[in-house]
Order: sequence, then C-alpha cells, then structure tokens
Amino acid sequence: MRTIRTIPELREHLAEHRRAGRSVGLVPTMGFFHQGHLALMAAARENTDVVVVSLFVNPTQFGPAEDLDAYPRDEARDASLAEGVGVDVLFAPDRAEVYPAGFATSVTVAGITEVLCGDPRRRGAAHFSGVTQVVAKLFNIVGPDVAFFGQKDAQQALVVRRMAADLNFPVRIEVLPTIREADGLAMSSRNSYLSADERQQATALSRGLDAAEAAFVGGERSAEALVRVASEVLDNADIDIEYVELRAVEDLSELRTVDVPGLLAMAARVGRTRLIDNRILETHLPEVGRADTAGTQQNGTRP
Ligand code: AMP
Repeated sequence: MRTIRTIPELREHLAEHRRAGRSVGLVPTMGFFHQGHLALMAAARENTDVVVVSLFVNPTQFGPAEDLDAYPRDEARDASLAEGVGVDVLFAPDRAEVYPAGFATSVTVAGITEVLCGDPRRRGAAHFSGVTQVVAKLFNIVGPDVAFFGQKDAQQALVVRRMAADLNFPVRIEVLPTIREADGLAMSSRNSYLSADERQQATALSRGLDAAEAAFVGGERSAEALVRVASEVLDNADIDIEYVELRAVEDLSELRTVDVPGLLAMAARVGRTRLIDNRILETHLPEVGRADTAGTQQNGTRP
C-alpha cells in the first residue's frame, strides 16, 4: 500500500491504472478505523481493481463548537489496518492541499440537508455543505468508478447520492449496512470518547431502534407511536435526545404513517459525546410466486 499526500502524485499514480483499464474504488473517511470502515474497504476491494481510501479530517464539516481538534487520529494504525484489507492507496493530504489559500467554492444540496442532523437548531445544513464540498473534491481528484459509504450516516449517504446525480459525477454510489458491536452499538470513531458507564448507556440507541422495529413488525404504522417507542428507551437510559424522527427514506419528507419505506433516525448525547444511529423500516416485498402472501402483505400494510 502506498500513502500519497499530494493531488498531483495521486493523479499521476491513478492515471497509470486507468491507462491499463483498471476500475477505481474510493472510500472517503476521517480515519481512526474500525470494522465499519474496514467493511467498506473490503467491499471496494471485492468490486474494484484499485482501492483508494482517503483519510482527511475535513474541517469544513465541523461546527465551531464541535470536536475538530479532539477528533481521534492515528495514521500509523490506520495505514496498517487499511493495508491488511488490501487497500492500494491511502490518500492522506494535509489541510492546505485540500483547501489552499484563496479557496472559495461551496457545494450545497438543498432540502434534505435542512432536516434531521441538518436542522438549524442542531448541526445545521452547513455540516452537509462541508461534506459535499470535500466529497465533490475527492470525486474530482480520484475520479472513482464506485464510491462506498456507510448506512450509519444515512442522511450523508442520501446527500452524497443527490449531489452526484445533480452534478453528473460519473460515479456509482454504494451504501453498505451499519457494522455494530456485539451489543448493538453502531461502530463509530467517536465511541472512543465514551467512559465505561457511557459505553453501557450508549447501547440504548440500538435498543431503541430494535424496540421500534419490533413494534413496526408487530403492525404499528404510526410514525408518532414508533418514535415514542424508541424515545422511551433513550429516556430510560437517561440519554439526552437531540432528535428521534421517522421520515421517508426516499427524500426525508415527513411521514405520519409508514406506508412507504421509513428511516427512523436518532441523534443523542451520551455524556458529551454525540452519537447517531438509524434503522430502515419497510415491509418486505412478497416472495415471488406466493400470491397468498402478496395479498396478506398488501392488506396488512395499507391503512
Ligand atoms: P467517517 O470516518 O466517520 O467519516 O466514516 C467514513 C465512512 O464510513 C462513512 O461513509 C461512514 O458512513 C462509514 N461508517 C462509519 N461508521 C460505520 C459503521 N458502523 N458501519 C458502516 N459504515 C460506517
């Protein structure tokens, strides 16, 4: 594996692969790798010829009160983990390489960035503008055939998909399932901030999602009721809820009844650490050739 720090060097390196007709996969990250990151890299390894992982703690997606300086970093460990799953290039530019003096361009997706984590009362849409700004640059720098993102950051994945479609980036976006600890906690670099007690409390996020999913499977279709079920689990664990909301997976529009696939999303503070998690709630399509099931399923899901 090669670690490359400059854009010209990366371009030159990838140009050789392109001339040889090889496909390029990109996994954008902020480092401090865990199994969630490694699963994206493994998928890239399986699906593309040349795997590029970017490691850049992007300052423009952090708010003024957020943890940019404290964000965990360990490049040597990251490099060895990435190498272990067969990554070809670790692209680890410094800040001035990505945002040189005079940098003045923003990239903003409207609408879906203004709800959930982007709600002005929370992180605000500026967070996602930081994400789209850096991802647009990475797409232009790397020119990947496929880029890999995690469902853990469901809203981010949706925003990146929208941007890529709107701006005609010739890239396929793959979104892979959330990787969890054995007790359900979604893996996150920020989990390293949690004390032992907080780590225990943090399981309430996935338990809340489980409880809501169980209610959904049991036939509950009211968004308000499902949100209440999940929120109660967080409340019982004494966790400070930022939001628990159920919105349409497709466009994050508000849902009162889950009659289209829903995204149950939450953000909460455990101590001073902000954690997010989500679950897609959808009725499974009927099995092919089982007309009886199809009938039941339809009747069962329509209010
Ligand atoms: P980050 O380094 O936190 O910016 O994450 C880099 C990529 O890894 C993003 O596409 C995330 O959605 C994804 N990711 C982070 N945590 C997980 C997880 N637990 N499971 C799957 N993907 C994840």
